[in-house]
Amino acid sequence: MKSWKTKSGYEIKRLIYGRSNVFLLTSDNKRILVDTSPGVYWKKLEKKIEKYSNGRIDILILTHAHFDHAYNTIRIKEKYKSSVYIHCNEADKLLNGENPETNGSNIMTKIITSLFGKTFMRMKNYHGCSADVMVYDRYDFEVEGLHAYLIHTPGHSAGSMSLIIDNEIAIVGDCLFGVFKSSVFPPFVTSPQDLTASWCRLIETGCSIFLPSHGNEKTRNQLIKDYIRHK
Ligand SMILES: [Zn+2]
Repeated sequence: MKSWKTKSGYEIKRLIYGRSNVFLLTSDNKRILVDTSPGVYWKKLEKKIEKYSNGRIDILILTHAHFDHAYNTIRIKEKYKSSVYIHCNEADKLLNGENPETNGSNIMTKIITSLFGKTFMRMKNYHGCSADVMVYDRYDFEVEGLHAYLIHTPGHSAGSMSLIIDNEIAIVGDCLFGVFKSSVFPPFVTSPQDLTASWCRLIETGCSIFLPSHGNEKTRNQLIKDYIRHK
């Protein structure tokens, strides 16, 4: 299993890799899960949580409320009594189990969303769940004893956010994609302007590694290159 460690010892494990990545952040006193993957991965995720987190999840962060990130939220909250964190723009979507709006960003995905977007997203509704903490522009985990914070990074969806760990590693949801070799631009975007502003915000964190929900890690240089191309 792929894992990363920051200089001061925070460990990040990629529990699920494939359709949608799930990350586990462990420190001395906290177990934080980022995203939950689609419903079909539940059994696999449950096993990994038992094995690598001793069946304990204190905090569940949702980078946004799309089904492939939020589907198993209710299961995790009920089983592990985790506190669920989401951006305020998408708390109602999570509560109703609805997918936030998004649009295609290239010819192919534009056609797909215009033809099937609404129907597909309705088919992908999930069991709703209430949030415990709503994040606005920034949420600091220093109070929980963690050198980490959440920032609002919209663009893919209105309530997308990223987790910044130790000013070194960022878990970014769909704010950038790790699937394509030559570009980090996500295939689905609601606001390209917001997206590039969010990239700028991510660059300003000083992080050197960016972990997206789809595909593999991206470097700071790859992000800067695409930011210059699209801003
Ligand atoms: Zn998404």
